[in-house]
Amino acid sequence: MTDDLLEDAIVRFEEALPHAALSEDARERLSRPASSLKVSIPVRMDDGSLETFAGYRMRYDDTRGPAKGGIRFHPGVTAAEVTTLAFWMTFKTALMDLPFGGGKGGVAVDPKRLSPAELERLSRGYIAAIADVIGPDVDVPAPDVATNELVMGWMAHEFAKIHRGHQPAVLTGKPQALGGIPGRASATSDGAFHVIRTVQPRMLDDVEHPSAAIQGFGNAGAQLAGRLADAGWRVVAVSDSSAAIHDPAGLDVGALVDHKADTGALTDAPVGEEIAAEDLLALEVDALIPSALEGAINGDNAESVRARVVFEVANGPVTAAADRILDEAGVQLVPDILVNAGGVTVSWFEWIANRTGDRWSAEEVARRLEERMVTETAAVVAVADERDLPLRTAAYVHAIERLSRSMDATGTSTLFSDAER
Ligand code: NAD
Repeated sequence: MTDDLLEDAIVRFEEALPHAALSEDARERLSRPASSLKVSIPVRMDDGSLETFAGYRMRYDDTRGPAKGGIRFHPGVTAAEVTTLAFWMTFKTALMDLPFGGGKGGVAVDPKRLSPAELERLSRGYIAAIADVIGPDVDVPAPDVATNELVMGWMAHEFAKIHRGHQPAVLTGKPQALGGIPGRASATSDGAFHVIRTVQPRMLDDVEHPSAAIQGFGNAGAQLAGRLADAGWRVVAVSDSSAAIHDPAGLDVGALVDHKADTGALTDAPVGEEIAAEDLLALEVDALIPSALEGAINGDNAESVRARVVFEVANGPVTAAADRILDEAGVQLVPDILVNAGGVTVSWFEWIANRTGDRWSAEEVARRLEERMVTETAAVVAVADERDLPLRTAAYVHAIERLSRSMDATGTSTLFSDAER
């Protein structure tokens, strides 16, 4: 990833500014990250050699509460990528009205290359390296691409050792046996499902069984495919980094989930036909659902998109250049900071439960998640309607106005009248 990603993210922010009530102070504070940490993590490999990995933890803004955002293990992780992800988290937590700011972390590593023991040493080494800048009241990490419950468990355990005491609220997405919450693993797909269901009457009201093509068959994409299929959608294509599988009549999602669990990839799937990865993006479907990585739909391929609506489950899957092309082609888009906000919302529940020493039931999590997703989706739609804006801009406006109110409440802009400046 390059600096373009951050520039792209800032374009969206700037596009929303003329439509949002935002103080000059808030605008200035939102224009750069609050803190950036780069660390080197030496890891003893199984063959006895020492390898050093670059790690990052960025806090973009924490006016509304501790920074919140996942940790990504991927070879393409850079300072610019992590900063951009932290920037998006700032708007996502504000959009959902959570008492958090935005942060993100990552390690430049190909986790598939590491043994389980090496992965554990890297995870613990990363937490030791950033331990001074995280904490339940400061910055609260969570899983992201290629990090999971197991990794969060190692990290929470390492943090407890460093601080010589339990602080389970330092990290969310932990195994339930270590203070995790039921429903966290499916929270992003459950949240996306509630957003889709809420906007469906407005965007796809003329189809009884809408069709969907889903790029990315990991934690978020595969579970959402299952929920949509259960709700009567035709999931006509799915892909992972190994293969794209297509069946215009609708795929048996359960068979693909089992195949991926058994073999680790969609290659040689027992159902559907294999198609080229790019062809999935060009299918004539009701919904195209990018659920893999940033920049999947860009200036080079956006013209081939023939979907009616794009639901961004991944963070930043559509570039600013692609946004303009889709808009001109009349393709509607529901943005990432709303669609994938279910994960951080259930992380909030986990943080509350850890801090109060309470346990939440799966039913309580599901009920509160649905309520949050439906309420904030309706609020974004209302801003879009009232101010005649696309949903992405409306989502930013909604978040920016909340951030501005919080920043202004810190008093910085009201302390000085014009005469005193
Ligand atoms: P994951 O690692 O579980 O899955 C990613 C999937 O994308 C894998 O199936 C991988 O094979 C596939 N993929 C990678 N490159 C691809 C390509 N070029 N074409 C097709 N498929 C490709 O990750 P995840 O947790 O499902 O996250 C996916 C996206 O959703 C990321 O952008 C992440 O930031 C975002 N997200 C995830 C969560 C969460 O709670 N998991 C929350 C918010 C946002």
